[in-house]
Amino acid sequence: GANTGVSGLEFHKSKGQHILKNPLVVQAIVDKAGVKSTDVVLEIGPGTGNLTVKLLEKAKKVIAIELDPRMIIHGDFMRVELPYFDLCVANIPYNISSPLTFKLLAHRPAFRAAVIMYQHEFAMRLVAKPADPLYSRLAVNTQLLARVGKNNFRPPPKVDSSVVRIEPRHPPPPVNFMEWDGLVRLCFSRKNKTLGAIFRQANTLQALEANYRTYQALQGNGGGAAGADAAVGIQSLGTAAGDDDVAMDHDGADDDDDDAMTVDGGPASK
Ligand code: SAM
Repeated sequence: GANTGVSGLEFHKSKGQHILKNPLVVQAIVDKAGVKSTDVVLEIGPGTGNLTVKLLEKAKKVIAIELDPRMIIHGDFMRVELPYFDLCVANIPYNISSPLTFKLLAHRPAFRAAVIMYQHEFAMRLVAKPADPLYSRLAVNTQLLARVGKNNFRPPPKVDSSVVRIEPRHPPPPVNFMEWDGLVRLCFSRKNKTLGAIFRQANTLQALEANYRTYQALQGNGGGAAGADAAVGIQSLGTAAGDDDVAMDHDGADDDDDDAMTVDGGPASK
């Protein structure tokens, strides 16, 4: 359902509109971002502009992308071609957490840092380390490309959100990302199987062998560029279902939609 805020606007839950009304939370996010006066800041989903106003006090420029035409610049973040920016600060619509994060990480030139308010559960999965039950393809791929840290900043009790700081690695790791992600998908394709068991499966072995033959053929034919081109002919190993992360699908929404989106516990954000 929609709710009317102080501004008189009706908030749309379908657009993930949970407005930050606690000024302390807004200020904490801005402080964590370490905004310099020379920075161009990208804000995703400015909503009524609570965070935007605070960012404008510190930054050289704030570019805000918003789905709701009543708000600032109208556009779907997932479809907009991103401009240059130094920092990204956002209290994001949770339903696009994963594709949004990877769209940011794929952007070039890389930004300095992103300070993003995620749903708590998603944040925990993003920062999970090996041996943590939450460790998944999402954590592996994010941490391959960036350092991530949950801020020591705690939102008010009962709030189901966490702020994560993301710093892209410089330079980016020298891996073919499609190939890498195929491997990671495969590794996480069976929840209760060991890697050994996955790599002994007949279909895995067949795919690996077929890919190796393609690779060799391309090596033989091409000149120097063959190595890079080989990846194109190689099939993804990780098409098996089993991982709910859409970590690399820039156009898909993930499943992280739930109704615990209140940031300050107030009724207008529900
Ligand atoms: N920044 C405000 C705040 O902190 O109070 C609002 C945050 S609210 C969680 C998310 C905002 O993102 C909403 O204003 C919503 O309309 C907008 N939004 C949802 N999906 C979007 C998309 N795909 N692209 C851009 N903005 C989107």
